[in-house]
Amino acid sequence: MAFINENEKFCTKCGTAYQIREMEGEGQVQFCPSCNEYHFPVFNTACSMIVRDPKTKKILLIKQYGRDSYILVAGYVNRGEDAEVAVAREILEETGLEAQKIEFNRSSYFERSNTLMLNWTVWVKDASALHTNKEVDSYCWFTEDEAKKNIRENSLAERFLLYYLNKEEWK
Ligand SMILES: [Zn+2]
Repeated sequence: MAFINENEKFCTKCGTAYQIREMEGEGQVQFCPSCNEYHFPVFNTACSMIVRDPKTKKILLIKQYGRDSYILVAGYVNRGEDAEVAVAREILEETGLEAQKIEFNRSSYFERSNTLMLNWTVWVKDASALHTNKEVDSYCWFTEDEAKKNIRENSLAERFLLYYLNKEEWK
């Protein structure tokens, strides 16, 4: 294994050119000789959530940023924050809903924003508490079949949703 990011030739802290050094048990890793540190590749981490009402089994999809198709609730993980904490925080911020049970589905790396996207299913405490913030244009609770039809076509959100609902192999 090697941990080398071709797009990062210089130390992100001090700007010194990276060396490639052997790190025991890890293989080749970028090393900054002035910070005297190994630097693993840097990327963003975000969570996307299949939000479900335990009473009706319906799935919450939202519209955002003026676009006319439904997506999953999603948000970035802060530095120092556990992903599970970020999931509950983002849902509360964007929808006012409290998470009751959080289950991990799978992850997918999204090249365009250099983001490792983690997908979760979140069963909420009380779906009637829903009040979206200004980041959300509109929302709708869908049955599983309706959600499959209404999720934005060819999006990562659609891939996560179909993987989760159809229990098929990841494509
Ligand atoms: Zn450095």
